[in-house]
Amino acid sequence: MQTQVKPKTHYNFIAGEWKAAKNKNVIEIKNPAKNTEIVGVVQKSLKVDLDEAVKAAQAVQKEWRDLGFIARGQYFYKVAESLEKNIDDIALTMTKEMGKTLPESKGEVMRAISIFKYYANEGMNKIGDVIPHTDSEGLMYTTREPLGVVGVITPWNFPIAIAAWKIAPALVSGNTVVFKPAQETSITAVKLVECIAQVGIPKGVINLVTGTGSTIGQGIIDHPEIQAVTFTGSNEVGKRVAVGAASRGAKFQTEMGGKNPVIIANDADLDLAVEQTINGGLKSTGQKCTCTSRVLVMSEVYDSFKEKLLTKVKEITVGDGTDEGSWMGPCSNEKQLNTVLNYIGKGIEEGAALLTGGKRITKGALSKGFFVEPTVFENVTPSMTIAQEEIFGPVLALIKVETIEEAIEIANDVKYGLSAAIFTRDLGKALTFTKEMDAGLVRVNAETAGVELQAPFGGMKESSSHSREQGKAAIEFYTATKTIFIKA
Ligand code: NAP
Ligand code: MG
Repeated sequence: MQTQVKPKTHYNFIAGEWKAAKNKNVIEIKNPAKNTEIVGVVQKSLKVDLDEAVKAAQAVQKEWRDLGFIARGQYFYKVAESLEKNIDDIALTMTKEMGKTLPESKGEVMRAISIFKYYANEGMNKIGDVIPHTDSEGLMYTTREPLGVVGVITPWNFPIAIAAWKIAPALVSGNTVVFKPAQETSITAVKLVECIAQVGIPKGVINLVTGTGSTIGQGIIDHPEIQAVTFTGSNEVGKRVAVGAASRGAKFQTEMGGKNPVIIANDADLDLAVEQTINGGLKSTGQKCTCTSRVLVMSEVYDSFKEKLLTKVKEITVGDGTDEGSWMGPCSNEKQLNTVLNYIGKGIEEGAALLTGGKRITKGALSKGFFVEPTVFENVTPSMTIAQEEIFGPVLALIKVETIEEAIEIANDVKYGLSAAIFTRDLGKALTFTKEMDAGLVRVNAETAGVELQAPFGGMKESSSHSREQGKAAIEFYTATKTIFIKA
């Protein structure tokens, strides 16, 4: 008989020390690919633990600010090295916590490494301008000052990349951080913070407090000593962040959902379009905010596109992300599985035609996990629920269109505006599309997912609070501009 190894307990990181929550309550993290496996145990913290972390972050903030951009950036080269050394362990932890395949997890850790390197360099870039003053004997210039303590609230779908693209620019800008990750992926967060802690960064600069959204997340939104909140997650919680932070005058940034369209024009390279639609829609089990959800296909190529797509979708191997043959893992948690199955049910009920998939996988070992078949619908009309609401699962909705103009109109006819793609060889169509799409990320002959860490990222309409993350845009969020005038 196999004896179950006792799951490891992980702690909060507060003021440079690993600590249990005051009430000693814990959360068990379960593997979505086999729900009998407990990956580890994390702290279910209370408001007092959060308060302690905020106090620690506040105490060291001026010292950290006074180090200056370059010295702060130097730490991040070491963080990158430390992540490199631990890449296999972190990737495996991520796969066990939220189910994406090991190559995807590894790729994501590599992304985090690049992000830390990028912001290490960013510490050497210019932070202001000299501007002429009406008094020609004086000197006027701008500089960028940190905001203070930043609260970081992250989702489970990119457990390390999103955390890194918030924490690295926040810290290099001279802020200190209190980080609350999604419960599901708290251990990956612990491992990231271990890599940051290892490089000798001053105590209190980075603090990790695990726990529930309602206690620790809401506690961050409401905390009078937290000057800025950066959030990625659902629209529902994002609105709470916006309203709560605004009501007490804190700076905030919310990155939320998407309902991303791809248009397949009649002159598209169909093989490329099929490959990229599948990658964009079904990789990471469709749990990317930028994933492809609506597929708008021009009638002339509809049948051949559909046939090629179905052939490829049916070849997808679904399985435990740690198995080498798996192309697609499980939904990351039971709630997400049920959400996906509910949307599929709604699709059928509202009259869309199910072409493939549609069911939970209950065969053999997969019955222990939250696996769902890759699913494709057709006869989807733009007003159907599955064409309007974010599913966050491996579901593609085919919509037949007659013209590019009609396709763009339907593509824009949702409350979201995160990413959008078109496949065409016609420069005119491509240009019209890039101009007319209300989306923060617009791509031609490439899948809807595909974010570059050095470029601004964020959505339009209800997908975001209209600020941008990553690249230099992140430094803008994590700092305030100060205009200085000096006269001798
Ligand atoms: P979520 O439920 O909104 O959770 C996000 C984070 O907020 C988690 O840490 C969660 O903690 C916390 N939270 C929950 N309730 C809270 C409250 N009352 N106050 C403060 N914080 C609270 O989202 P999710 O299910 O993790 O992630 C999926 C969503 O994220 C999707 O809608 C997806 O589109 C979006 N997303 C957007 C982007 C983007 O860049 N635009 C990227 C990735 C994901 P708990 O874990 O404890 O609930
Ligand atoms: Mg959640």
